[in-house]
Amino acid sequence: MSVTPEAPVSVPIADLENDDLLGAFPEGRRLVGTRCADCGQTMIGDRVVCSACVSRDVSRVPLPATGVLYSFTRLHLKGEAVRAVGYVDLDDNVRTLADLREDSIPLRPDVPVELGFDGDDWFFTPATGA
Ligand SMILES: [Zn+2]
Repeated sequence: MSVTPEAPVSVPIADLENDDLLGAFPEGRRLVGTRCADCGQTMIGDRVVCSACVSRDVSRVPLPATGVLYSFTRLHLKGEAVRAVGYVDLDDNVRTLADLREDSIPLRPDVPVELGFDGDDWFFTPATGA
């Protein structure tokens, strides 16, 4: 009689709507990522399987707090302030959809951005000196 190993409970793809993507790391508060020891792929979210090579040799890592804005749009919703959202390419080749905020530096493609926090909310904003 053979023993079948118990399958992991979580799914290989992170639930970006419901998973808590913020984690505390020695570097500080960062978005949670997963890095594959077999192929080197880095993914957003806490995962049990590599989405590139299906290896289970993965570990939880902090994602970089800096990146480059790939593309964005502004949402004009009735009764709400204009909200900017866009895709950010983090410095380790992970692309994530994120809320965006802008102060004195306007949003534009290819602008360097950095991670910011407002309570438990996270966003990217053009990096100082961009
Ligand atoms: Zn892999």
